[in-house]
Amino acid sequence: MNDVTVDPIAKRASVGGGALWAEIDHETQAHGLATTGGLVSTTGVGGFTLGGGLGWAMRKYGLACDNLIAADVVTADARLVHASETDNADLLWGLRGGGGNFGIVTRFELALHPIGPTIYAGPIFYPAEDAFDLLRTFRDWSADAPDEVTALVNLTSAPPLPPIPQEWHGRKVAALLAACTGPIDEGEPLLRTIRSVAEPIVDLLGPMPYTAFQTLLDPLWPKGIHAYFKATNLAQLDDELIDRLCKLHHAAPGPQCEIHVQQMGGAVARVPEGATAFPERSMPFVLNAVTGWHDPAEGPTHQDWSRTVISSAAQASTGRAYVNFLGDADAAKTAYGDATYARLAALKRTYDPTNLFRLNHNIAPAER
Ligand SMILES: Cc1cc2nc3c(=O)[nH]c(=O)nc-3n(C[C@H](O)[C@H](O)[C@H](O)COP(=O)(O)OP(=O)(O)OC[C@H]3O[C@@H](n4cnc5c(N)ncnc54)[C@H](O)[C@@H]3O)c2cc1C
Repeated sequence: MNDVTVDPIAKRASVGGGALWAEIDHETQAHGLATTGGLVSTTGVGGFTLGGGLGWAMRKYGLACDNLIAADVVTADARLVHASETDNADLLWGLRGGGGNFGIVTRFELALHPIGPTIYAGPIFYPAEDAFDLLRTFRDWSADAPDEVTALVNLTSAPPLPPIPQEWHGRKVAALLAACTGPIDEGEPLLRTIRSVAEPIVDLLGPMPYTAFQTLLDPLWPKGIHAYFKATNLAQLDDELIDRLCKLHHAAPGPQCEIHVQQMGGAVARVPEGATAFPERSMPFVLNAVTGWHDPAEGPTHQDWSRTVISSAAQASTGRAYVNFLGDADAAKTAYGDATYARLAALKRTYDPTNLFRLNHNIAPAER
């Protein structure tokens, strides 16, 4: 169920429930259109959109779930239900951030926007010693960056890929990744301050096809890799936290241990809290500790490191988290917070009272 049909006049895509972002980008870019999709093109529209959906276009055009206009849903009692602002609007509210709790979405209708086919985007890699300065500059620059740009700092190890000088492969680095969804010639001045923070190892920021940027990270996430994510929303990114993150970067147990500090704000924050099930919108940053490994025996070490990164940010956290970045299935209540969780639980009682759809960040049906 991966068909994608684009209406370029209405700027809408009708997407089968099993489509991947590469398939959506392929069809929509033929019309110079796109919507907020994942940083890795092998993720699917289903879990990504229903959980929220953070991507390069979000500060200009909102989260993936904000672009969900309507959905066809097979419910637990085997009805095919249409959800939109006018039909079953309560269900649409829950599908915009509440995850796969309310049924199987067979069709997503998504809003599209003029993006690409070439955008100003790319990564810049700096030596790990510059991570502290990069994160401080990124924090200060983010405060009044325009919506057209969405950026992320990744404390990681240099992947063994050709544009990176071979002597750096596998060494600890700090990467800035950014995308500008506005006109190409506006990209360079928007990113000038942050770009010049240090002497880069390699600077690949420039005009590139949107689809190239959307698939840039795919080789790092092959099928079958073991992975664990843990995240928290940050109310602030103070110097003490930056210092702790830099130390944890040095202590990372493997080459695919990544500390992401994701810039939020813009269109994400302009949707009123409570308007969708995506629980919190005002946080300036999301911290995500991402690990990938190949030998199953390494799992506990990687999970421990990831949990330590997130607990190191406890003082700066809002207490909420983005469910799609949580590897632990029992974290939904804390992630959503009491008010959103109570509303989701009531909706769950309406659409899935026996909790048939429970292999997810589960919302337990509210008791009568
Ligand atoms: C390599 C990688 C990169 C990522 N990058 C990002 C990123 O840039 N931004 C971001 O926000 N998140 C990102 N994520 C997290 C991602 O949003 C979640 O992993 C999400 O669950 C992926 O959805 P999926 O459909 O691909 O996964 P699946 O494993 O297929 O689905 C996950 C769950 O979603 C629900 N679901 C899926 N499809 C449907 C459907 N049609 N109807 C109802 N429920 C459904 C089900 O509960 C299912 O168990 C990334 C994850 C990975 C592994």
